[in-house]
Amino acid sequence: MTARLLDGKRVAQEIQGEVKDAAKPLIEKGITPGLAAVLVGVNAASKLYVNSKTKACQEAGLFSEAVLLPTETTREELAKKLDELNGRDDIDGILLQLPLPDHLDSTEFLDRIHPSKDVDGFHPESVGKLVQKRPGPRPCTPAGVMELLRRENIEISGKRAVIVGRSDIVGKPMAMLLTHANATVTVCHSRTKDLPSVTREGEILVAAMGRAAIIRKEFIGPGAVVIDVGMNRAETAEQVKDFFGDDEKRMATFERRGSTLVGDVHPKDAMEIASAITPVPGGVGPLTIAMLLKNTLELCEARRG
Ligand code: NDP
Repeated sequence: MTARLLDGKRVAQEIQGEVKDAAKPLIEKGITPGLAAVLVGVNAASKLYVNSKTKACQEAGLFSEAVLLPTETTREELAKKLDELNGRDDIDGILLQLPLPDHLDSTEFLDRIHPSKDVDGFHPESVGKLVQKRPGPRPCTPAGVMELLRRENIEISGKRAVIVGRSDIVGKPMAMLLTHANATVTVCHSRTKDLPSVTREGEILVAAMGRAAIIRKEFIGPGAVVIDVGMNRAETAEQVKDFFGDDEKRMATFERRGSTLVGDVHPKDAMEIASAITPVPGGVGPLTIAMLLKNTLELCEARRG
């Protein structure tokens, strides 16, 4: 079997187009949905990441502002900045880029974002709404995965879904969303015994561990739909060869950049046994950004629409 590639990039473009269309009537009324992306401790990679989010906003006609703060930013300064954004009428969504520098506690500051502007859905109020299946912002990555499954006509109801990873950002909300869609869900983590025997049961398998290509053939049930959330780097030519076989384009990327992106799933193995997989890059990543725009629009409609 050769797995079908699930084109997250195409689905993300579709969602971004819908956001653009839906924002038009609001913009004509003088209400432009606005996102503020706060980044503390600027390095080239994190800046690029925030820039890609603000650029996507602009392309969809939304307002966006990158707030770049130095690593030495104090608790008081960050709190003041978030309070200021909470109070601004033109900002509908506030994104706090994680991780924060060690002296700043992410929980304290995620809690400080007003729930009506919680674009990532990480505030405890949003988490409660998710658990109770009440309307509210959903964390962008798992929400993007759900959109992909629906738009690719992958049946969820009644299926066995296995998630590897139990973080607040991906694993836990993913489990909730799949449960609400009537999947029977198992969540695995670093203490799960005999992981392959559990993951093989998954008709839908979501890998969100942050471990390069760890999900090999023996972890995947024949015909499973595999969603690879992981974003890791292959850093040696041997790894690139092992993960991607004779993929010349990958090797060229590796040679040019000194590394290449790889997910948690071994791509060559998964292609042979899964029925469908998300590529890395071009799978879940673009969907996360598309859902950020969708959440910004929905928060704007709820507060100012
Ligand atoms: P975390 O580090 O917060 O969580 C990782 C989870 O994986 C933990 O629950 C951990 O278990 C589990 N885990 C780690 N190693 C193993 C193992 N060997 N076997 C079984 N379980 C394991 O990561 P995130 O959830 O934030 O992110 C996961 C991955 O997804 C990362 O690669 C990240 O870069 C990527 N990501 C991608 C996004 C995208 O847009 N594509 C967005 C967000 C994340 P335990 O709880 O026991 O420690």
